[in-house]
Amino acid sequence: MRAVKLSITLAGVIAAVAAVNAGDVFEMKCQSKTCGYTSRVTFGGGMAFEQLTGYCLKCKKFVYLQWTREGSPALDPAAKKVLPPKPLGEVWDAQSGRALTIYACPECNGPFAAIKNRSDDLKHCPACGKSDFAVDDTKPRIVFD
Ligand SMILES: [Zn+2]
Ligand SMILES: [Zn+2]
Repeated sequence: MRAVKLSITLAGVIAAVAAVNAGDVFEMKCQSKTCGYTSRVTFGGGMAFEQLTGYCLKCKKFVYLQWTREGSPALDPAAKKVLPPKPLGEVWDAQSGRALTIYACPECNGPFAAIKNRSDDLKHCPACGKSDFAVDDTKPRIVFD
């Protein structure tokens, strides 16, 4: 009986660590009354990996690429090293004047642009295109220190 209890506790600890490793998690919601699209979006990597975020138009969801964070003390030496993803290329966004780096979607291999910064670069709702996409204040914000 005791052994069972211990393993449940350990699983809880592992789940908590995995959540911390996921970066900054945002519950995003389109504020448009006719849309209301919601999605959880994660930015940044964890102790042992780096991550980039994008939205795949074909898959209709946020997608992520992860690779090993070099030199991290949290790195498991036995784990297989994942190399940083190679971009497919860059395109110039005439509206913002910036170059967008394009990567292949991990699920459909279609192109998606990396979203570099949540607060600066993620304002438009991927479902309706309106500039009403914001962190949903009605949901608890997950903060990692
Ligand atoms: Zn895709
Ligand atoms: Zn919307």
